[in-house]
Amino acid sequence: MSEEACIFCDIVAGKVPCHKVYEDDRTLAFMDINPVAPGHVLVIPKTHYENLLGLTPGDLAAVHQTSQKIAGAIITGLKMPGVAVLQLNGKGANQVVMHYHVHLIPRNRPKDGIEILEWEPKPGNTRSIKSKLQKIQDAL
Ligand SMILES: [Zn+2]
Repeated sequence: MSEEACIFCDIVAGKVPCHKVYEDDRTLAFMDINPVAPGHVLVIPKTHYENLLGLTPGDLAAVHQTSQKIAGAIITGLKMPGVAVLQLNGKGANQVVMHYHVHLIPRNRPKDGIEILEWEPKPGNTRSIKSKLQKIQDAL
């Protein structure tokens, strides 16, 4: 998707309305209109980046500072015991809008029933863990 056809860039430009939560020079936070849970907020940089890999350090810091601020407001304002911070990169990770964004999802497990955010920790295969470790380190 090109920057010209990006729904989040249109929101930043004011061409498409949003339920704005917060805005500063670099970032915008707004309600997700397809919420995973009530109170689901998205935080984006105002500059278009497809995903984490292209983000500049300044905008990366700005988005996560805004995420920290809004996550606190979700916990306090909605009286929630937790908030999940979720960020997807690439179609293989189910990224739908190709403009970097952070999901802030209020959590009150187990009764909220958001299964995608639930998993039971279980020991992995050490050989597989070491193999993936080596490939990731080799790519650094
Ligand atoms: Zn965009």
